[in-house]
Amino acid sequence: MTVLFWDIDGTLLTTGKAGVPAWEKAVREVVGHDFQLSRFRVAGLTDYQIAVRTFEMLGVEADDEKIGRMVRRYEELLPEWLPTKKGYVLPNVREILETLEHRSDMRSYLLTGNTRGGARAKLTHYDLFKYFPDGAFAEDASERSVIATRALDLARRAGPVLDRGVFVVGDTPHDVHCANAIGARTVAVATGGYSLDELESHRPWRAFAELPPADEFIRMIDEAGHGRTEDKLRA
Ligand SMILES: [Mg+2]
Repeated sequence: MTVLFWDIDGTLLTTGKAGVPAWEKAVREVVGHDFQLSRFRVAGLTDYQIAVRTFEMLGVEADDEKIGRMVRRYEELLPEWLPTKKGYVLPNVREILETLEHRSDMRSYLLTGNTRGGARAKLTHYDLFKYFPDGAFAEDASERSVIATRALDLARRAGPVLDRGVFVVGDTPHDVHCANAIGARTVAVATGGYSLDELESHRPWRAFAELPPADEFIRMIDEAGHGRTEDKLRA
C-alpha cells in the first residue's frame, strides 16, 4: 500500500482566513482580551501550538486545561465563520483525490495541525470530507512529528505500507520536517503561507508552485513508489 498524508490549510484548501475571526472571538471569550492573530506566522503551527503562542504573547499564564478550553471554543465557533469568507479548494486537489479514490493500492489520510473537529468543519464545508477515511490530528501542544507518527501507525493498522510508499503533501517547512521524522517524502506546494524558494530551502522531495494535474501527480507517486525515480530527499 502507498499512503499519502495530506495537510489541510494551504494544501487542500484555503478558508479565506475564516479561522482568524473564530480564533480572535475564542480568545476574547476565554481570556477576556482583544488579540490580533496576524501578530505571528501561524502557517504550519498546530491549533494547540497557536493557543500556546497566543497565551505567551498576551502574557497570560496557561495550563493544559485553559489551552484545551480555548481550542475547543475555537472549534465550536469555526463552522459559523466558514461561510462568511470566500475560501476555495486549491488547484487540482479535487481531481487528484477523485483519481486516488479509484486506486485500491493507494490511500489518503489527513495529517494536520487542525483538531479533528476543526478539520471536519473545513472539509465538510468544501465537500472534501468524503475522500478521507481517517487521519491524525492535533490533540495537544506536541510537535507535528508526533502527529505524523500517529498517522503512520494508523495507516499501518489498515495493512502493510511500502517502505518507499509514504508521502506527505504540505505547504510549509513544518510539513517537510514532520515527513522527514517518519521517513516519508514530501510533496511541497507553495499554495499556502510559504514561497517556492522558502520551501525548496528545506529540501522537500518535490516542490511545486501548485499541485500538478491529477495524471501527472499520480504518475509521480507511482514511479517513486516503484523506485524508478531518483530519491533526492536525503543524500
Ligand atoms: Mg498547511
